[in-house]
Amino acid sequence: MSRDYFLQKRVLVTGGCGFLGSHLIDRLIEQGHEVLCVDNLFTGSKSNISHLLQHPRFEFMRHDVCLPLFVEVDEIYNLACPASPIHYQHDPVQTTKVSVHGAINMLGLAKRLKCRILQASTSEVYGDPVVHPQTEDYWGNVNPIGIRSCYDEGKRCAETLFFDYNRQHDIEIKVARIFNTYGPRMHPSDGRVVSNFIMQAIRGEDITIFGNGSQTRSFCYVDDLVDGLMKLMNSSDGFTGPVNIGNPNEFSIRELAELVVEMTNSGSKIIDLPLPQDDPKQRQPNIGLAKSELGWEPTIELKEGLEKTIAYFESLDTIPAQL
Ligand code: NAD
Ligand code: UDP
Ligand code: UDP
Repeated sequence: MSRDYFLQKRVLVTGGCGFLGSHLIDRLIEQGHEVLCVDNLFTGSKSNISHLLQHPRFEFMRHDVCLPLFVEVDEIYNLACPASPIHYQHDPVQTTKVSVHGAINMLGLAKRLKCRILQASTSEVYGDPVVHPQTEDYWGNVNPIGIRSCYDEGKRCAETLFFDYNRQHDIEIKVARIFNTYGPRMHPSDGRVVSNFIMQAIRGEDITIFGNGSQTRSFCYVDDLVDGLMKLMNSSDGFTGPVNIGNPNEFSIRELAELVVEMTNSGSKIIDLPLPQDDPKQRQPNIGLAKSELGWEPTIELKEGLEKTIAYFESLDTIPAQL
Protein backbone atom coordinates (compact mmCIF):
# COMPACT_ATOMS: atom_id res chain seq x y z
CA MET A 1 0.00 0.00 0.00
CA SER A 2 1.68 3.16 -1.19
CA ARG A 3 -0.43 5.83 0.50
CA ASP A 4 -1.55 6.52 4.00
CA TYR A 5 -4.95 4.87 4.16
CA PHE A 6 -5.97 7.03 7.08
CA LEU A 7 -4.79 10.47 5.93
CA GLN A 8 -7.89 12.67 5.91
CA LYS A 9 -9.00 13.60 2.42
CA ARG A 10 -11.91 15.34 0.80
CA VAL A 11 -13.43 12.67 -1.42
CA LEU A 12 -15.97 13.07 -4.22
CA VAL A 13 -18.30 10.10 -4.74
CA THR A 14 -20.55 10.41 -7.79
CA GLY A 15 -23.60 8.17 -7.62
CA GLY A 16 -23.28 8.29 -3.84
CA CYS A 17 -27.03 7.89 -3.21
CA GLY A 18 -27.04 4.51 -4.93
CA PHE A 19 -26.49 1.04 -3.59
CA LEU A 20 -22.69 0.79 -3.86
CA GLY A 21 -21.98 4.51 -3.48
CA SER A 22 -23.79 4.83 -0.17
CA HIS A 23 -21.86 1.92 1.34
CA LEU A 24 -18.60 3.36 0.06
CA ILE A 25 -19.45 6.71 1.66
CA ASP A 26 -20.18 5.04 5.01
CA ARG A 27 -16.69 3.50 4.97
CA LEU A 28 -14.99 6.75 3.92
CA ILE A 29 -16.74 8.65 6.72
CA GLU A 30 -15.82 5.89 9.21
CA GLN A 31 -12.16 6.34 8.21
CA GLY A 32 -12.30 10.05 8.97
CA HIS A 33 -12.58 11.47 5.45
CA GLU A 34 -14.79 14.31 4.26
CA VAL A 35 -17.23 13.22 1.56
CA LEU A 36 -18.96 15.16 -1.17
CA CYS A 37 -21.76 13.04 -2.58
CA VAL A 38 -22.94 14.09 -6.05
CA ASP A 39 -26.06 12.42 -7.40
CA ASN A 40 -29.06 13.37 -9.53
CA LEU A 41 -31.29 10.82 -7.72
CA PHE A 42 -32.19 9.05 -10.98
CA THR A 43 -31.99 5.57 -9.45
CA GLY A 44 -30.54 6.40 -6.06
CA SER A 45 -32.46 7.54 -3.05
CA LYS A 46 -31.89 10.10 -0.32
CA SER A 47 -32.95 7.41 2.15
CA ASN A 48 -29.58 5.69 1.48
CA ILE A 49 -27.73 8.71 2.88
CA SER A 50 -30.35 10.11 5.28
CA HIS A 51 -28.30 8.93 8.29
CA LEU A 52 -25.42 11.16 7.11
CA LEU A 53 -27.25 14.37 6.27
CA GLN A 54 -26.40 16.01 9.60
CA HIS A 55 -22.84 14.65 9.69
CA PRO A 56 -20.23 17.46 9.75
CA ARG A 57 -17.96 15.67 7.26
CA PHE A 58 -20.72 14.85 4.76
CA GLU A 59 -22.21 17.02 2.03
CA PHE A 60 -24.84 16.16 -0.59
CA MET A 61 -25.09 17.95 -3.92
CA ARG A 62 -27.87 17.20 -6.40
CA HIS A 63 -26.20 17.36 -9.80
CA ASP A 64 -26.11 15.48 -13.10
CA VAL A 65 -22.56 14.40 -14.03
CA CYS A 66 -23.38 14.97 -17.71
CA LEU A 67 -22.88 18.64 -16.82
CA PRO A 68 -19.55 20.16 -15.80
CA LEU A 69 -18.78 20.19 -12.10
CA PHE A 70 -16.44 22.67 -10.45
CA VAL A 71 -15.57 21.58 -6.91
CA GLU A 72 -12.35 21.11 -4.92
CA VAL A 73 -11.55 17.56 -3.81
CA ASP A 74 -8.52 15.29 -3.28
CA GLU A 75 -9.84 12.20 -5.04
CA ILE A 76 -12.82 11.02 -7.06
CA TYR A 77 -14.80 7.78 -7.16
CA ASN A 78 -16.95 7.88 -10.31
CA LEU A 79 -19.93 5.60 -9.72
CA ALA A 80 -22.77 7.61 -11.26
CA CYS A 81 -24.65 5.42 -13.74
CA PRO A 82 -27.83 3.35 -13.57
CA ALA A 83 -26.71 -0.26 -13.08
CA SER A 84 -29.67 -2.58 -13.36
CA PRO A 85 -30.91 -3.61 -16.82
CA ILE A 86 -34.45 -2.23 -16.32
CA HIS A 87 -33.01 1.11 -15.24
CA TYR A 88 -30.33 1.49 -17.89
CA GLN A 89 -32.78 0.39 -20.59
CA HIS A 90 -35.41 2.90 -19.41
CA ASP A 91 -33.60 5.74 -21.22
CA PRO A 92 -30.73 4.12 -23.14
CA VAL A 93 -29.51 7.33 -24.78
CA GLN A 94 -29.15 8.90 -21.34
CA THR A 95 -27.28 5.78 -20.14
CA THR A 96 -24.59 6.19 -22.79
CA LYS A 97 -24.43 9.93 -22.05
CA VAL A 98 -23.92 9.32 -18.33
CA SER A 99 -21.03 6.96 -18.97
CA VAL A 100 -19.38 9.07 -21.66
CA HIS A 101 -20.14 12.71 -20.77
CA GLY A 102 -19.94 11.82 -17.08
CA ALA A 103 -16.46 10.33 -17.59
CA ILE A 104 -15.30 13.35 -19.64
CA ASN A 105 -16.46 15.80 -17.00
CA MET A 106 -15.06 13.86 -14.05
CA LEU A 107 -11.76 13.33 -15.90
CA GLY A 108 -11.67 17.05 -16.74
CA LEU A 109 -12.18 17.74 -13.05
CA ALA A 110 -9.40 15.29 -12.11
CA LYS A 111 -7.13 16.95 -14.69
CA ARG A 112 -7.70 20.42 -13.24
CA LEU A 113 -7.25 19.17 -9.66
CA LYS A 114 -4.40 16.76 -10.52
CA CYS A 115 -6.11 14.13 -8.39
CA ARG A 116 -6.70 10.39 -8.53
CA ILE A 117 -9.90 9.15 -10.10
CA LEU A 118 -11.44 5.68 -9.90
CA GLN A 119 -13.94 4.43 -12.43
CA ALA A 120 -16.66 1.93 -11.54
CA SER A 121 -16.48 -0.16 -14.69
CA THR A 122 -18.18 -3.49 -15.03
CA SER A 123 -17.89 -7.15 -15.98
CA GLU A 124 -20.34 -6.18 -18.76
CA VAL A 125 -17.33 -4.97 -20.76
CA TYR A 126 -16.74 -8.71 -21.37
CA GLY A 127 -20.29 -9.02 -22.82
CA ASP A 128 -21.31 -12.66 -23.32
CA PRO A 129 -17.80 -13.96 -22.70
CA VAL A 130 -16.23 -16.84 -24.60
CA VAL A 131 -13.24 -16.85 -22.23
CA HIS A 132 -14.17 -18.29 -18.86
CA PRO A 133 -13.39 -17.26 -16.13
CA GLN A 134 -12.74 -13.73 -17.36
CA THR A 135 -9.26 -12.24 -17.05
CA GLU A 136 -8.54 -8.55 -17.55
CA ASP A 137 -6.68 -9.14 -20.82
CA TYR A 138 -9.81 -10.56 -22.47
CA TRP A 139 -11.32 -7.96 -24.85
CA GLY A 140 -14.87 -9.23 -24.58
CA ASN A 141 -17.74 -10.26 -26.80
CA VAL A 142 -20.15 -7.33 -26.86
CA ASN A 143 -23.05 -6.65 -29.23
CA PRO A 144 -22.64 -2.98 -30.20
CA ILE A 145 -26.31 -2.51 -31.24
CA GLY A 146 -28.35 -4.56 -28.78
CA ILE A 147 -30.52 -3.56 -25.84
CA ARG A 148 -27.64 -3.90 -23.35
CA SER A 149 -25.20 -1.94 -25.54
CA CYS A 150 -25.96 1.48 -24.05
CA TYR A 151 -24.53 0.20 -20.78
CA ASP A 152 -21.80 -2.13 -22.06
CA GLU A 153 -20.46 0.15 -24.79
CA GLY A 154 -20.90 3.25 -22.62
CA LYS A 155 -18.71 1.65 -19.95
CA ARG A 156 -16.20 0.47 -22.56
CA CYS A 157 -15.94 4.00 -23.97
CA ALA A 158 -15.50 5.35 -20.42
CA GLU A 159 -12.56 2.94 -19.95
CA THR A 160 -11.09 4.23 -23.23
CA LEU A 161 -11.41 7.82 -21.99
CA PHE A 162 -9.78 6.93 -18.67
CA PHE A 163 -6.78 5.36 -20.40
CA ASP A 164 -6.46 8.23 -22.91
CA TYR A 165 -6.55 10.84 -20.11
CA ASN A 166 -3.90 8.77 -18.37
CA ARG A 167 -1.64 8.58 -21.43
CA GLN A 168 -2.35 12.07 -22.79
CA HIS A 169 -2.71 14.13 -19.60
CA ASP A 170 -0.94 11.95 -17.04
CA ILE A 171 -4.05 11.62 -14.87
CA GLU A 172 -3.75 8.99 -12.12
CA ILE A 173 -6.53 6.54 -12.96
CA LYS A 174 -7.84 3.37 -11.32
CA VAL A 175 -10.32 1.20 -13.23
CA ALA A 176 -12.35 -1.45 -11.38
CA ARG A 177 -14.34 -4.03 -13.33
CA ILE A 178 -17.09 -4.80 -10.86
CA PHE A 179 -18.90 -8.14 -11.05
CA ASN A 180 -22.48 -8.70 -9.78
CA THR A 181 -22.73 -7.28 -6.28
CA TYR A 182 -25.59 -7.56 -3.81
CA GLY A 183 -26.52 -6.51 -0.30
CA PRO A 184 -28.64 -4.13 1.78
CA ARG A 185 -29.82 -0.94 -0.01
CA MET A 186 -30.26 -2.60 -3.37
CA HIS A 187 -33.53 -1.15 -4.51
CA PRO A 188 -36.21 -3.82 -3.97
CA SER A 189 -37.74 -3.16 -7.38
CA ASP A 190 -34.67 -2.43 -9.46
CA GLY A 191 -35.05 -5.76 -11.24
CA ARG A 192 -31.69 -7.31 -10.39
CA VAL A 193 -31.79 -10.99 -9.71
CA VAL A 194 -30.91 -11.06 -6.00
CA SER A 195 -33.40 -8.34 -5.02
CA ASN A 196 -36.10 -9.80 -7.30
CA PHE A 197 -35.78 -13.32 -5.89
CA ILE A 198 -35.70 -12.19 -2.26
CA MET A 199 -38.69 -9.85 -2.63
CA GLN A 200 -40.66 -12.52 -4.51
CA ALA A 201 -39.83 -15.13 -1.86
CA ILE A 202 -40.78 -12.80 1.02
CA ARG A 203 -44.10 -11.89 -0.63
CA GLY A 204 -44.87 -15.50 -1.61
CA GLU A 205 -44.91 -14.56 -5.30
CA ASP A 206 -43.56 -16.75 -8.10
CA ILE A 207 -39.77 -16.68 -8.42
CA THR A 208 -39.10 -15.58 -11.98
CA ILE A 209 -36.18 -17.36 -13.63
CA PHE A 210 -35.39 -15.90 -17.04
CA GLY A 211 -34.49 -18.70 -19.47
CA ASN A 212 -33.87 -22.15 -18.01
CA GLY A 213 -31.73 -20.87 -15.13
CA SER A 214 -28.53 -22.51 -16.33
CA GLN A 215 -26.84 -19.14 -16.93
CA THR A 216 -24.32 -18.33 -14.23
CA ARG A 217 -23.26 -15.31 -12.20
CA SER A 218 -20.74 -14.85 -9.36
CA PHE A 219 -22.14 -12.77 -6.53
CA CYS A 220 -20.04 -10.49 -4.34
CA TYR A 221 -21.29 -9.09 -1.04
CA VAL A 222 -21.20 -5.28 -0.93
CA ASP A 223 -18.78 -4.99 2.05
CA ASP A 224 -16.15 -7.03 0.19
CA LEU A 225 -16.67 -4.94 -2.92
CA VAL A 226 -16.21 -1.63 -1.09
CA ASP A 227 -13.05 -2.98 0.48
CA GLY A 228 -11.73 -3.85 -3.00
CA LEU A 229 -12.57 -0.40 -4.41
CA MET A 230 -10.79 1.36 -1.54
CA LYS A 231 -7.73 -0.87 -1.86
CA LEU A 232 -7.63 -0.06 -5.55
CA MET A 233 -7.89 3.68 -4.92
CA ASN A 234 -4.99 3.40 -2.47
CA SER A 235 -2.86 1.08 -4.62
CA SER A 236 0.67 1.82 -5.82
CA ASP A 237 1.32 4.78 -8.11
CA GLY A 238 1.22 3.58 -11.67
CA PHE A 239 -1.17 0.68 -11.07
CA THR A 240 -4.16 1.63 -13.20
CA GLY A 241 -6.00 -1.66 -13.58
CA PRO A 242 -8.34 -2.58 -15.13
CA VAL A 243 -8.80 -5.04 -12.32
CA ASN A 244 -11.65 -7.47 -11.70
CA ILE A 245 -13.37 -6.99 -8.34
CA GLY A 246 -15.85 -9.73 -7.66
CA ASN A 247 -16.43 -13.03 -5.94
CA PRO A 248 -15.21 -15.99 -8.02
CA ASN A 249 -17.77 -18.45 -6.61
CA GLU A 250 -20.06 -19.14 -9.54
CA PHE A 251 -23.72 -20.18 -9.23
CA SER A 252 -26.43 -20.93 -11.75
CA ILE A 253 -29.48 -18.70 -11.50
CA ARG A 254 -31.56 -21.79 -10.64
CA GLU A 255 -29.21 -22.58 -7.72
CA LEU A 256 -29.67 -19.01 -6.50
CA ALA A 257 -33.46 -19.29 -6.73
CA GLU A 258 -33.47 -22.56 -4.78
CA LEU A 259 -31.17 -21.15 -2.11
CA VAL A 260 -33.33 -18.04 -1.61
CA VAL A 261 -36.51 -20.14 -1.34
CA GLU A 262 -34.82 -22.39 1.23
CA MET A 263 -33.37 -19.53 3.29
CA THR A 264 -36.63 -17.58 3.43
CA ASN A 265 -38.75 -20.70 4.10
CA SER A 266 -40.90 -19.45 1.28
CA GLY A 267 -43.79 -21.27 -0.33
CA SER A 268 -43.04 -19.51 -3.63
CA LYS A 269 -43.02 -21.55 -6.80
CA ILE A 270 -40.10 -21.21 -9.25
CA ILE A 271 -41.27 -20.41 -12.80
CA ASP A 272 -39.39 -19.97 -16.09
CA LEU A 273 -39.90 -16.84 -18.21
CA PRO A 274 -38.25 -15.92 -21.54
CA LEU A 275 -34.55 -15.01 -21.46
CA PRO A 276 -33.93 -11.33 -22.35
CA GLN A 277 -31.89 -10.56 -25.49
CA ASP A 278 -28.08 -10.75 -25.14
CA ASP A 279 -28.24 -12.08 -21.56
CA PRO A 280 -24.70 -13.37 -20.83
CA LYS A 281 -24.60 -17.17 -20.36
CA GLN A 282 -21.77 -17.25 -17.86
CA ARG A 283 -19.78 -14.88 -15.73
CA GLN A 284 -16.98 -15.51 -13.26
CA PRO A 285 -14.06 -13.25 -12.44
CA ASN A 286 -10.49 -14.39 -12.34
CA ILE A 287 -9.27 -12.32 -9.38
CA GLY A 288 -5.57 -13.21 -9.55
CA LEU A 289 -4.62 -9.61 -10.33
CA ALA A 290 -6.65 -8.18 -7.42
CA LYS A 291 -5.00 -10.70 -5.10
CA SER A 292 -1.45 -9.95 -6.22
CA GLU A 293 -1.69 -6.17 -6.73
CA LEU A 294 -4.17 -5.22 -4.02
CA GLY A 295 -3.90 -8.08 -1.56
CA TRP A 296 -7.68 -8.31 -1.90
CA GLU A 297 -10.07 -11.21 -2.03
CA PRO A 298 -13.67 -11.54 -0.89
CA THR A 299 -14.37 -13.07 2.51
CA ILE A 300 -18.16 -13.32 2.63
CA GLU A 301 -19.79 -16.46 1.26
CA LEU A 302 -23.08 -16.24 -0.62
CA LYS A 303 -25.12 -17.79 2.19
CA GLU A 304 -23.82 -15.33 4.79
CA GLY A 305 -24.34 -12.36 2.49
CA LEU A 306 -27.83 -13.51 1.56
CA GLU A 307 -28.77 -13.78 5.25
CA LYS A 308 -27.89 -10.11 5.77
CA THR A 309 -29.63 -9.07 2.57
CA ILE A 310 -32.80 -11.01 3.37
CA ALA A 311 -32.84 -9.43 6.86
CA TYR A 312 -32.59 -5.97 5.24
CA PHE A 313 -35.46 -6.58 2.82
CA GLU A 314 -37.60 -8.06 5.61
CA SER A 315 -37.00 -4.93 7.71
CA LEU A 316 -38.27 -2.49 5.05
CA ASP A 317 -41.69 -1.10 5.93
CA THR A 318 -41.87 1.14 2.91
CA ILE A 319 -40.25 0.83 -0.48
CA PRO A 320 -38.11 3.90 -1.27
CA ALA A 321 -39.56 5.89 -4.19
CA GLN A 322 -37.77 5.54 -7.49
CA LEU A 323 -38.05 6.58 -11.14
P1 NAD B 1 -27.38 2.35 -8.38
O1 NAD B 1 -28.36 2.53 -9.50
O2 NAD B 1 -27.91 1.93 -7.06
O3 NAD B 1 -26.54 3.68 -8.17
C1 NAD B 1 -26.17 4.54 -9.22
C2 NAD B 1 -26.28 5.96 -8.70
O4 NAD B 1 -25.90 6.86 -9.75
C3 NAD B 1 -27.71 6.34 -8.29
O5 NAD B 1 -27.70 6.95 -7.03
C4 NAD B 1 -28.15 7.30 -9.38
O6 NAD B 1 -29.13 8.23 -8.95
C5 NAD B 1 -26.83 7.95 -9.76
N1 NAD B 1 -26.85 8.54 -11.10
C6 NAD B 1 -27.32 7.98 -12.24
N2 NAD B 1 -27.17 8.83 -13.26
C7 NAD B 1 -26.59 9.96 -12.75
C8 NAD B 1 -26.19 11.21 -13.30
N3 NAD B 1 -26.37 11.48 -14.60
N4 NAD B 1 -25.63 12.13 -12.49
C9 NAD B 1 -25.46 11.88 -11.17
N5 NAD B 1 -25.83 10.72 -10.59
C10 NAD B 1 -26.39 9.77 -11.38
O7 NAD B 1 -26.28 1.33 -8.90
P2 NAD B 1 -25.08 0.63 -8.11
O8 NAD B 1 -25.33 -0.82 -8.12
O9 NAD B 1 -24.80 1.32 -6.85
O10 NAD B 1 -23.88 0.89 -9.14
C11 NAD B 1 -22.92 1.91 -8.91
C12 NAD B 1 -21.87 1.86 -10.01
O11 NAD B 1 -21.23 0.59 -10.01
C13 NAD B 1 -22.43 2.06 -11.41
O12 NAD B 1 -21.53 2.84 -12.16
C14 NAD B 1 -22.50 0.67 -11.96
O13 NAD B 1 -22.39 0.66 -13.37
C15 NAD B 1 -21.30 0.00 -11.29
N6 NAD B 1 -21.48 -1.46 -11.19
C16 NAD B 1 -22.35 -2.00 -10.30
C17 NAD B 1 -22.51 -3.38 -10.24
C18 NAD B 1 -23.43 -4.04 -9.25
O14 NAD B 1 -23.55 -5.26 -9.28
N7 NAD B 1 -24.07 -3.34 -8.38
C19 NAD B 1 -21.78 -4.20 -11.12
C20 NAD B 1 -20.92 -3.61 -12.03
C21 NAD B 1 -20.76 -2.23 -12.04
N1 UDP C 1 -14.65 20.00 -16.37
C1 UDP C 1 -15.37 19.99 -15.20
N2 UDP C 1 -14.77 20.45 -14.06
C2 UDP C 1 -13.52 20.94 -14.07
C3 UDP C 1 -12.78 20.93 -15.27
C4 UDP C 1 -13.37 20.44 -16.40
O1 UDP C 1 -16.51 19.54 -15.16
O2 UDP C 1 -13.05 21.36 -12.99
C5 UDP C 1 -15.30 19.44 -17.56
C6 UDP C 1 -15.56 20.44 -18.64
O3 UDP C 1 -16.92 20.33 -19.00
C7 UDP C 1 -14.74 19.96 -19.81
C8 UDP C 1 -14.48 18.51 -19.50
O4 UDP C 1 -14.47 18.44 -18.08
O5 UDP C 1 -15.46 20.04 -21.00
C9 UDP C 1 -13.16 18.00 -20.02
O6 UDP C 1 -12.14 18.83 -19.53
P1 UDP C 1 -10.76 18.95 -20.31
O7 UDP C 1 -9.95 19.95 -19.59
O8 UDP C 1 -10.17 17.62 -20.50
O9 UDP C 1 -11.20 19.41 -21.75
P2 UDP C 1 -11.52 20.79 -22.39
O10 UDP C 1 -12.08 21.72 -21.36
O11 UDP C 1 -10.20 21.25 -22.93
O12 UDP C 1 -12.52 20.44 -23.44
N1 UDP D 1 -32.69 -12.89 -13.81
C1 UDP D 1 -33.68 -13.82 -13.57
N2 UDP D 1 -34.81 -13.41 -12.94
C2 UDP D 1 -34.98 -12.14 -12.52
C3 UDP D 1 -33.96 -11.18 -12.74
C4 UDP D 1 -32.82 -11.60 -13.41
O1 UDP D 1 -33.55 -15.00 -13.93
O2 UDP D 1 -36.05 -11.86 -11.94
C5 UDP D 1 -31.46 -13.35 -14.49
C6 UDP D 1 -31.01 -12.48 -15.66
O3 UDP D 1 -31.65 -12.89 -16.84
C7 UDP D 1 -29.52 -12.75 -15.68
C8 UDP D 1 -29.16 -12.95 -14.20
O4 UDP D 1 -30.39 -13.28 -13.56
O5 UDP D 1 -29.25 -13.95 -16.37
C9 UDP D 1 -28.55 -11.71 -13.54
O6 UDP D 1 -29.40 -10.62 -13.81
P1 UDP D 1 -29.13 -9.16 -13.23
O7 UDP D 1 -30.12 -8.26 -13.90
O8 UDP D 1 -29.12 -9.20 -11.75
O9 UDP D 1 -27.64 -8.81 -13.66
P2 UDP D 1 -26.83 -8.93 -15.04
O10 UDP D 1 -27.65 -9.61 -16.08
O11 UDP D 1 -26.54 -7.52 -15.39
O12 UDP D 1 -25.65 -9.73 -14.66
